[in-house]
Amino acid sequence: MNAIGQTLEGKTLALKIKEELKKEVAELKEKFNCAPLLSAVQIGDNPSAEVYFKSQKKCADELGVLYQRHQLPADIAQDEFFAFLDSLNKDKNVSAVFVQMPLPKQIDARQFSGHMFPDKDAEGMHPENLGRLFFGKARIIPCTAAAVMELLKSTGVNLYGKEAVIVGHSEIVGKPLSLLLLEQFATTSVCHIATGERGLTQEHVGKAEVLVVAVGRAHLIKGSWIKEGAIVVDVGINKLGDKIVGDVEFEEAAKRASWITPVPGGVGPLTVTMLMRNLIEAAKLKIK
Ligand code: NAP
Repeated sequence: MNAIGQTLEGKTLALKIKEELKKEVAELKEKFNCAPLLSAVQIGDNPSAEVYFKSQKKCADELGVLYQRHQLPADIAQDEFFAFLDSLNKDKNVSAVFVQMPLPKQIDARQFSGHMFPDKDAEGMHPENLGRLFFGKARIIPCTAAAVMELLKSTGVNLYGKEAVIVGHSEIVGKPLSLLLLEQFATTSVCHIATGERGLTQEHVGKAEVLVVAVGRAHLIKGSWIKEGAIVVDVGINKLGDKIVGDVEFEEAAKRASWITPVPGGVGPLTVTMLMRNLIEAAKLKIK
């Protein structure tokens, strides 16, 4: 393992990956006359989503891909929303579709994820894409899980046989990440609410050589729990007073970890880059 507490900066890594993606976009345009287009859909108003939409647009401009945004009314009926999705599915110019979560309660999230055309599913949450992930054949990977894997890869540490612990089993982060870590032959444990209720989270965290936390509770993981030399990726974003903090007590954890992501500035900047990578993958699938 490396020297104590090296910071895993998502921004620097995102810049590097974006350079590679720019080349892919240029090639798609030159060889195939294909300009990838991401359609981003928002239902109703959600001021906190604004930051993510802005960073999508900025990233799209940097990479030279097309970006369009659709604003739908908050009370849109499910059938109407699915009809709109169908129009994007059929539109030959649209390479991939992003829909801002959470959906309003009149729309069934399960039906929605199956309704998207899998090859245009920018977030990799269609059952077919999740099935491919299960079989180790993923083409479009859920963005945050993919961002975590890129951060881990950037450390140069081989995950084979490593004790990996994920805290949080959400469908967008913890569950897909567990499959990606297993694919690298990390010995993977997933902690969730029941682990916490039994008071066993500390014990699991203490054996983690690779720890990923995605819960959304400020400082849930104490710095003193971290195993010496562990790689720590903190996905959590929480408001604490006027500060944004992660799920891990950063200062204490950094004294024990070999690598640790800051919050903000760790996973966040990479997530939108992974969304763009999925867009480019979707554009390539269309050509195939
Ligand atoms: P989520 O859907 O609310 O999932 C949180 C998970 O944590 C659930 O599986 C929940 O289990 C589990 N959990 C709750 N309390 C726990 C405890 N005490 N111990 C262990 N597990 C516990 O959230 P999410 O969408 O995965 O996001 C998690 C955090 O990451 C949030 O802060 C979010 O803002 C952040 N995030 C950041 C990025 C980024 O780009 N940086 C992207 C996505 C999310 P139950 O469902 O069983 O209660």
